Amino acid sequence: MKVAIVGAGIGGLSVAWALRKRGVDVMIFDQGDIPSLTASSNDEHRITRHTYGGLPGYAALMPHAFATYDRIWQDIGTSHYLPTGIVYAMRGGADEYDEIAADLSPLGIAHSRLSLAELESRVPFLSLDGVTSAYQAGGSGILLAGRIVRDLAHWLRENGAEMYPNSRVTAVDPDAATVTVGQQVYSADVVVVAAGAWVTNLLPKLADRLTPSRQMVMYLQPPAHHAASWAQAPVLIDVGPSYGAYVLPPQGGMRLKIGDHRFTRIGHGDDDRIATDFDIAPVLAAAQTAFRDFDQYTILENKVCYYTVSDDERFVIEPICGAGWVLSACSGHGFKLGALMGEGLARTLTGDTPAGDVTAWAAGKTAGA
Ligand SMILES: Cc1cc2nc3c(=O)[nH]c(=O)nc-3n(C[C@H](O)[C@H](O)[C@H](O)COP(=O)(O)OP(=O)(O)OC[C@H]3O[C@@H](n4cnc5c(N)ncnc54)[C@H](O)[C@@H]3O)c2cc1C
Repeated sequence: MKVAIVGAGIGGLSVAWALRKRGVDVMIFDQGDIPSLTASSNDEHRITRHTYGGLPGYAALMPHAFATYDRIWQDIGTSHYLPTGIVYAMRGGADEYDEIAADLSPLGIAHSRLSLAELESRVPFLSLDGVTSAYQAGGSGILLAGRIVRDLAHWLRENGAEMYPNSRVTAVDPDAATVTVGQQVYSADVVVVAAGAWVTNLLPKLADRLTPSRQMVMYLQPPAHHAASWAQAPVLIDVGPSYGAYVLPPQGGMRLKIGDHRFTRIGHGDDDRIATDFDIAPVLAAAQTAFRDFDQYTILENKVCYYTVSDDERFVIEPICGAGWVLSACSGHGFKLGALMGEGLARTLTGDTPAGDVTAWAAGKTAGA
């Protein structure tokens, strides 16, 4: 069997990795380099955690997601996971601790509420203004995303994958299992479209369900007097009345990063990546609220990125016509689950499907591995 994969983000690379391990021939096409600078997957880091309060079904998948990454670490020869734990600071609004505890207790993952004094001791650089509740959990940390996609691409090159960088696919024919790049038509037995925020260029029928969303993250350098506590800090979720910030501490050679969970649902992957005042304002406001001494932080970069969102924020893995599949991450959890999803689709393509119905499984509707 030969599989043509459009898109070399975490989704496409993971399908390719899992297929090559099963002896399947793969061709991987990307419109940019592999990995591409504009891929959602190619940022310094992404959060991983087991908590999934608002999305039933996904917490049960997270141990499998961690196990898939463990298999990747074995193959690429190094781990790109930094276990930091996670701290939540809620400034008004809903207290989600009970939901988080319900996710984590069955998995045996530690969690506890934090008093304000405990919060201050754990994250002394955080402002306590307006904090109404706080809690912490294990089973969470940082995935060094850019290094992961770089090393997966390297593993694939070393292990017989045909790589086609700078090859924008202009059409896929899922019945004939072909992809077209310029004048060239490539034939396979199966086509997988894992094109991230560009998916609807190739599959316009999905446009009513999959929406590109322009998101911005801010890279910061903390002032020297907070550097030591940032170096020991957990991943942070800081939810205020008008923002839902996530914060990755500067560890593993990466920079401090803050972003806003809320989806803009505007833009397109092809748009320019120049941060506007409209992009910057909500993230800046969140950082000003969350961090003590924010005026002493240096803004290193405002980085615009796109991911695809759906109304229910659930992954889409679906057949498209005869010999085609689409794999699309739907919201800000696409990296932590992306490798598991890619492996799940590869197992389906090779007939090795402990998950059963892969579409329901990807949507978090069954808990099989
Ligand atoms: C700001 C931000 C913060 C995030 N935070 C987190 C987080 O903390 N935790 C988490 O789990 N997830 C997070 N995510 C989500 C996660 O990064 C994405 O869901 C995931 O990386 C998507 O992977 P992908 O492979 O589907 O898409 P991508 O990584 O975007 O890859 C798609 C690839 O397809 C290529 N392509 C597209 N069209 C074509 C074509 N026609 N021909 C050839 N190639 C094509 C593109 O060039 C690209 O390389 C975040 C995303 C953003 C933007």
